[in-house]
Amino acid sequence: MNTDLEHLIVLQAQDLELRRLRQQLSEAPLEVKAAEAALALAETALDAAEKGLAREEALRRSQELDVKERQGKIARLRKQMETASSAAQISALEHEISFFEQSIAKLEDEELASLERTEGLELARGEATLTLEVNTATLAAIRVRTADLTTHHTAAIASIEAERAATRALLSASPAGEAQLSVYDRIAKAKGTGLSEAADHKCSACQMMVRPQRWNDLTDRDPHSEHANTIFTCESCGRMLYYDPRRDAPVRWTPGERISSASNP
Ligand SMILES: [Zn+2]
Repeated sequence: MNTDLEHLIVLQAQDLELRRLRQQLSEAPLEVKAAEAALALAETALDAAEKGLAREEALRRSQELDVKERQGKIARLRKQMETASSAAQISALEHEISFFEQSIAKLEDEELASLERTEGLELARGEATLTLEVNTATLAAIRVRTADLTTHHTAAIASIEAERAATRALLSASPAGEAQLSVYDRIAKAKGTGLSEAADHKCSACQMMVRPQRWNDLTDRDPHSEHANTIFTCESCGRMLYYDPRRDAPVRWTPGERISSASNP
């Protein structure tokens, strides 16, 4: 295989790995932010439940005071009844007593409604407390994981950057390598990758068929053939094609293994 092409394959593996690492590095803070938002939401829910419970309690205290006040009034009115002389006076007092009794019944109904709301709020407080605990633990775990990932990825990026610079230096130093490198950079910038593996008579990046003659030239393993050193490009997407004969070897390669083994020829 063309030596420049071999170096380009390594370069692409390095570029893709750098992209993957940088992507994960940039997503890590978003995960922390999402966990922080979930925690804040649980805190708000707990706060709302607690405030609601306090509000209901205060409401019931004031309702109880109102009941007592009306009971006092009724007691006073009954005393007045004992000394009432006319039927009209008695009727007026009875009317007043009945008014306060109705008012007490209404207050007691309202107190019952408040107790029902309190039950719901206590349930909500329990749920919010549990959610808060879970979300607090989740955030702590994500923070630790993010810190580890940042440390690891930052170091890995620096190390691959150094390897990548060495690969590019090798290409720049070869007679045709500089030109191949600029083609690679141009296509990679436009399409995400500059190289594509030719497999099953197709360009694996754009899935277009490779013409039979080109396929034969590309896969010709005779080191003396006229195409042994040619870099073919996909006629459809323009990516430089490479053919890995190990694909046809009776060995099972796990995904990524062939490309990573390419960096340690
Ligand atoms: Zn293609």
